[in-house]
Amino acid sequence: MHNPACFAEAGETIDTQKPLRVVPWHADSVAATLTAFDTSPEGLDTAEVLRRLALHGYNRMPEGEGRSALSRFLAQFNNVLIHVLLAAAAVTALLGHWVDAAVILLVVLVNAVIGFIQEGRAERALEAISAMISAQASVMRDGKRHTIKAEELVPGDIVLLEAGDRVPADLRLLRARSLRIDEGILTGESVPVEKGTSRIGADAALGDRTCMAFSGSLVVAGQGAGVVTGTGAGTEIGRITSLLGEVETLATPLVRQMDQFARMLTGAILAVSVAVFGIAVAVHGMPWGDAFMAVVGLAVAAIPEGLPAVMTITLAIGVQRMAARNAIIRRLPAVETLGSVSVICSDKTGTLTRNEMMVQTVVTSDGRFEVTGSGYAPEGGFLLDGTRASVEDRTSLAEVVRGSCLCNDASLRRTEAGWSVNGDPMEGALVSLAMKAGMDPHELRSRFGRLDEIPFDAQHRFMASLHHLPEGGAVLYVKGAPERVIAMCGREHASSGERPLDAGWWTAQADAAARQGQRVLGIAAKRLPQVPSKPLAFADVDDGLTMLGLLGLIDPPRDEALVAVRECQSAGIRVKMITGDHAATAAAIAGMLGIRGSDGRALTGADLDRMSESEFQSVVRDVSVFARTSPEHKLRIVQALQHDRAIVVMTGDGVNDAPSLKQADVGVAMGRKGTEVAKEAAGMVLADDNFASIVAAVHEGRTVHDNLKKVISWTLPTNGGVALAIITAMLLGLTLPIAPVQILWINMITAATLGLTLAYEPPEPDVMRRPPRRVDEPILSRFLVWRIVLVSVLFVVAVSGMFAWAIRRGLPIEEARTIVVNTLVVLEIFYLFSVRFLHAPSLTWHGVVGTRSVLIGVGAVVLAQFAFTYLPPMQVLFHTRAVSLLDGVAIMAAGMILLLILEGEKRLWGRVGGLNPDLKHR
Ligand code: ATP
Repeated sequence: MHNPACFAEAGETIDTQKPLRVVPWHADSVAATLTAFDTSPEGLDTAEVLRRLALHGYNRMPEGEGRSALSRFLAQFNNVLIHVLLAAAAVTALLGHWVDAAVILLVVLVNAVIGFIQEGRAERALEAISAMISAQASVMRDGKRHTIKAEELVPGDIVLLEAGDRVPADLRLLRARSLRIDEGILTGESVPVEKGTSRIGADAALGDRTCMAFSGSLVVAGQGAGVVTGTGAGTEIGRITSLLGEVETLATPLVRQMDQFARMLTGAILAVSVAVFGIAVAVHGMPWGDAFMAVVGLAVAAIPEGLPAVMTITLAIGVQRMAARNAIIRRLPAVETLGSVSVICSDKTGTLTRNEMMVQTVVTSDGRFEVTGSGYAPEGGFLLDGTRASVEDRTSLAEVVRGSCLCNDASLRRTEAGWSVNGDPMEGALVSLAMKAGMDPHELRSRFGRLDEIPFDAQHRFMASLHHLPEGGAVLYVKGAPERVIAMCGREHASSGERPLDAGWWTAQADAAARQGQRVLGIAAKRLPQVPSKPLAFADVDDGLTMLGLLGLIDPPRDEALVAVRECQSAGIRVKMITGDHAATAAAIAGMLGIRGSDGRALTGADLDRMSESEFQSVVRDVSVFARTSPEHKLRIVQALQHDRAIVVMTGDGVNDAPSLKQADVGVAMGRKGTEVAKEAAGMVLADDNFASIVAAVHEGRTVHDNLKKVISWTLPTNGGVALAIITAMLLGLTLPIAPVQILWINMITAATLGLTLAYEPPEPDVMRRPPRRVDEPILSRFLVWRIVLVSVLFVVAVSGMFAWAIRRGLPIEEARTIVVNTLVVLEIFYLFSVRFLHAPSLTWHGVVGTRSVLIGVGAVVLAQFAFTYLPPMQVLFHTRAVSLLDGVAIMAAGMILLLILEGEKRLWGRVGGLNPDLKHR
């Protein structure tokens, strides 16, 4: 039942691997648990970690049973289209047409092999991509806090938990502050459990072990720390292996819609085949054996058996291309949805801005100080009215700087590349500020040891910390959004002493800094004569504080975000900034980025709360900047936009963002600063937290959609063309222009090769210059139906013309038919070049040269055609004859004419709009 490695008795080290008699949740005290795991609050050292890693292995779940290669291969045959082909092959063989039967089987086999190989590649690529977002864990090692990969945890590690984390291993809690954990994944219980550190009875059920945190469960609120008691397969979740090994199937709404369509199409083809067979035999007296073979050829030609696999592959290639641009897809349908996005709602800090902060202004009651220097480097000083100000002479300045360094969890590190932050970048900037003021953050933090804290959360917009004072008593520091902090204060600090607060003056100062795009923080303090006996509560910070000052930080916009916003505008996508920051800061940054609203105003969460539902609805449509919002506002904004039929991308990083990420059409979580909860709720994760990557993903999403459309636009009309040529001949009682076995040949060599090349098409130049696609646009648009009819008719005309011309010249029927087969293949190739550009002319240098995959596909088909026409064994098998050079030229001319007609048609629609919905927009 229990992980044997966890049950060491107090004092016993764990590598004895003896089953123990102490159960972690029943251990007498925190100290006993630490001893049992031979660890301490400072954590393990590197040598010990390596030793334990070698002993216990990585903290990974046992590999789930993947599908075997054989079952994946067999799955390729599990498709109605293929069943029909197999039945046709069986009957053909029974009738003694061995070559025909073999060719049909080859068609099926080639299709299955290509599907198997490509799908395998796609699945492997998806697995590799999901590994890119590996979970992280915060641990104490060597007395310092580190962020490591969760799989590197070992028993005895001290793990720190906070809201939004997924618990990375089984933990015995050592500290819990308002810690609530959702253990639904283990217990099925959806209400989060309140956690503590008190010992629990040894036989307590899983759901009652409140001093434990289990791997895989989610921290919904609070903070805590615990010692790892089990990792990998040794965790409670590790035992529930049934949860694992589920591979997401490669199916999206479009693929499913197409699957259904293919099924209907098969029914229709079978019905038409029966009717054509009946008419040919009864009306035209065609021998029924011949008629049957012709109808088999017809059915095989018309059935788009390769289409489902090619569509899946197109999607998988899209996922790979997005991953290369830092957008990692977690749910496959997002690939498709991204192509039709019409509104992107983005956070500001770190997504639109660089999240590289620097304090630029400090306001105290003495005045407004400018801070010099750049980046996190602690080099620079303070200027007051242009002259250097020394911190020693200004107690008010020293107080603000000290408070902002103590009420702070970040630290700075000097690396080869310069100074970098461990923790929140904004807090890192405050540490740098303290160093510029000549303070040593380390020394400061140990002299004013922290006794308690209220962690920052986006809802309350402040954090508080309690410190003991070297001279006795304690001091409480609060740092947060200025309006919150000002409201808590009754007095203000000045170098000359304390005096009553001038709230109006401070608010005006905060607004002035925000209008310059600065992110503003207020700092306040309260002295307590004695260290309080009770834990810090919200009531302690409600009032009676003394205002120390304001800090204005700059966080410049990302250059690439500027370009991406512009790209969105040309692509008809609206960009909205939804931030927790101050309205003036948000509006200033939005202005720098060129994010435009109807009137450039920024609305705050409080403004939104005052509105009626209908006002809210219309405001959300028009306004582009929302400030001081909370996660609930995000959810309401998404819903209102969707009500307006928009397709919405919403970004988020916190635990509370999960509902809006789920509600959005594509929820986007931040890979770096996002919590595990946000990542799990999202359809896509940004590896670099960068707004530009969302736009890159939309670009790829539109390309995927174009390519799916190209694959369909090529497959259906070419299948239809060949089928119609046979139907026409049979219905009119004419000689078939192409023998059944030859139809099968065409199908075999073109379906998988030529169609597949379209999956690799690069984006068309105008992808980001057209408005978003309508979501309700059916796959079989009126334009596509028209195309199927037009191309089918053109195919019939070309085939009949070439056939009649050959017969008129007295060529034997075998040679005439060889000409027809080559004509059909050439028409398919030329049509491929036409379809490569749905929106632009194909007759350009770029269009003619094609891509590598097009060249390989076309090259392979051309070689196969030469073999088919000139190789003696093939001539015997397929009843073909060599074709003269003149006929070769005529065949090429037929292809060229088709291309020209279709180019003319493209241009016509471009001019008159009409049926083609894509061209109509422009
Ligand atoms: P975005 O939603 O675009 O990422 P944001 O990072 O400004 O914007 P929040 O993190 O919700 O949004 O922050 C809201 C406000 O809370 C900030 O403007 C700041 O005043 C305050 N704040 C942010 N982080 C801290 C912190 N670590 N300590 C104290 N106050 C903070």
